Amino acid sequence: MRTRISELDFSTTKGEKVMTPENGGNTIPDYYGSNVFGIKTMRNYLSEKAYKSLRETIENNGALDPNIADEVADAMKTWAVSKGATHYTHWFQPLTGLTAEKHDSFIQLDGEGGVLLEFSGDELIQGEPDASSFPSGGLRPTFEARGYTGWDPTSPAFIKEGTQAATLCIPTFFVGWNGEALDKKTPLLRSMKAISKQTARLAKLLGIKIKQNAYSTLGGEQEYFLIDRDFYNARIDLIQTGRTLFGKEPAKHQQLADHYFGAIKDRIMAFMEDFDFEMWKLGAPSTTRHNEVAPGQFEIAPIFENQNLAVDHNMLCMEVMQKVAQKHNLACLLHEKPFANVNGSGKHCNWSVTGPDGKNWLSPGDNPHENERFLIMLCAVIQAVDDYAGLLLASIASAGNEHRLGSHEAPPAIISIYLGEQLNDIIEQIEKGSGAKSSKQGGTLEIGVDSMPTLPRHASDRNRTSPFAFTGAKFEFRAVGSALSLSGPNIVINTIVADALDQICTKLETAKNSGISTNKAVQKILQDIIKKHKKVIYNGDNYVPEWLKEAKRRGLPNLKTVPEALKELKTPAVIKLFEGQSVLNKTEIISRYDAYMEAYETTVQYEGELTASMAKTTIIPAALDYQLGLANVIKSVEGINKTKSTSSRKLLKDVTNKTENAIAAIENLEIALKGSSTEKIKASMKALRAIVDSLEELVPAESWPLPSYAEMLFIT
Ligand code: ADP
Ligand code: MG
Repeated sequence: MRTRISELDFSTTKGEKVMTPENGGNTIPDYYGSNVFGIKTMRNYLSEKAYKSLRETIENNGALDPNIADEVADAMKTWAVSKGATHYTHWFQPLTGLTAEKHDSFIQLDGEGGVLLEFSGDELIQGEPDASSFPSGGLRPTFEARGYTGWDPTSPAFIKEGTQAATLCIPTFFVGWNGEALDKKTPLLRSMKAISKQTARLAKLLGIKIKQNAYSTLGGEQEYFLIDRDFYNARIDLIQTGRTLFGKEPAKHQQLADHYFGAIKDRIMAFMEDFDFEMWKLGAPSTTRHNEVAPGQFEIAPIFENQNLAVDHNMLCMEVMQKVAQKHNLACLLHEKPFANVNGSGKHCNWSVTGPDGKNWLSPGDNPHENERFLIMLCAVIQAVDDYAGLLLASIASAGNEHRLGSHEAPPAIISIYLGEQLNDIIEQIEKGSGAKSSKQGGTLEIGVDSMPTLPRHASDRNRTSPFAFTGAKFEFRAVGSALSLSGPNIVINTIVADALDQICTKLETAKNSGISTNKAVQKILQDIIKKHKKVIYNGDNYVPEWLKEAKRRGLPNLKTVPEALKELKTPAVIKLFEGQSVLNKTEIISRYDAYMEAYETTVQYEGELTASMAKTTIIPAALDYQLGLANVIKSVEGINKTKSTSSRKLLKDVTNKTENAIAAIENLEIALKGSSTEKIKASMKALRAIVDSLEELVPAESWPLPSYAEMLFIT
């Protein structure tokens, strides 16, 4: 039977209180990164020689020197054991979009009935999980299932605390025996290399001093819902699919936008405090927290980091959120659309590049030289996004995100770029070329010679509806779904921008060889890019219907379903792109397409099956019970009153009709589930849901078998 509100437990904190000056004297710097085998910790556990070598490896994105592997492994083990670790695991990111781990203990038999604790360099560098069951899109049939995981030292090992002991986690890539990428980290690292290479090439051409490796940066803002765990446990749809397959939206939800940035309730606050504490121990710089637009919806954001590390930290973030929520008897919903007709959740992917000079290349500088670098980067992004808008959509296509895009405060499935008024004006000046008069600046901008006006960085200038917005010193890709791994979209952004920079560099090199000055050449190249690609720039409201028409006129793709978007992966242009930048080869791309399509079709199928079975086994019985009760009441009442209860009879008729329709809709869905297209299954689910949601309005709340939207969204 369903949970009554009076039975819920509203106590705010479940576990021990996080470290505070009162109960341990500790402040954030004392415990920040305490569960990470980072540079600082390494120094205490390694010889000077090994420490230097490892530090260098990390800074240069290199591979671990096998000569120091044993020492590093032993140091890691000693440190981990001191933290209570009994096991280690290679922690990797298969194509499921989740993380995977298989634990091995440190114990070795000592031959005298006891054990020793061992961890070798070989075990650190390479693992060989029998991972034949992970999706590989046919790249690795089970009979040749061997794949191996390898440590990527740019993301440090860390400790996951269990309730009794701990586990040492080693972030790894996962490849097949011939080096083919079976995961999401391998192509991410390759794409980071591609952009690093092209940025260094450009730096050289511009006469910028190379001080370090260039790398992409990422700050991933994460939206989520929290609901009481007892409600969650009473909904098999939430447990199994992450979203509600039925449910009528409450009369009051987000119309007043009174939840956004509102005061945070005690119980939610306790969750957030506990979450931050756990993240900080893991060296993950969680920093911003607030209520989101929908009731029950929240957001957390970190300080941006090196992209590889930031992706790992976001994976950890999703895991920690769910764990901490459980501790507080809450359920954390990461699905993109847990509640129909209520805002969905996204993940804002804030992307930029720290160049070989150590500076942010998407930050407009305060001298003409820095502006040149900035404007080239900006135009490279414009060209990349316009050329590969479809690929960007493919990188965020999932069954969950499909429900979210284009509805309720989410960008539509049309990729456009927002620049803001002032930057747009500068772009227009460059397009017109020298000699043109700008309306706003009263002049032209000669790249590398003139200074650019300072751009505003305050939030009021930001367009919240744009899927790909320039926000001061970075681009923000907002169409990413809340449950998705950030690697997919970042692999794509790195690769397409690297490719655009590659083309720009080639042109600059040609110009240089013909004796044309770099400034002149840049001016012409950027002018051409803007002329050709300005159709992807849109500074207006992306939520209005007129935009759909305008985008169509401009010829921008609008790939609304997952299969439409994923098809982009197989186009010759995309294959050429990935191969050209050495990020993925054709076989690896096609296998990804197959794996993602299969995941999509499987999800639609099982969601359809669950929809049919829930309707059949919980909703129809409740509706029939209600009819029986109503019929009995009407019979008795009419017998006594000797008059017809017309309105009650009408109500009964209404319930009967809707129940009949629901049963018919279940049958339709069951037929569709036997081999129809995903579109047909989705349509049948929608039809059934509409009838069931209208029944929810008739059946007494007491006997409705599922917690309501109002209960789930408002009671915490
Ligand atoms: P908002 O977009 O919500 O107004 P901010 O502009 O402060 O908030 O930042 C949003 C996110 O973007 C944060 O995670 C922040 O660390 C990240 N960010 C800021 N600068 C960069 C950068 N150069 N590269 C990547 N991410 C960045
Ligand atoms: Mg944002």
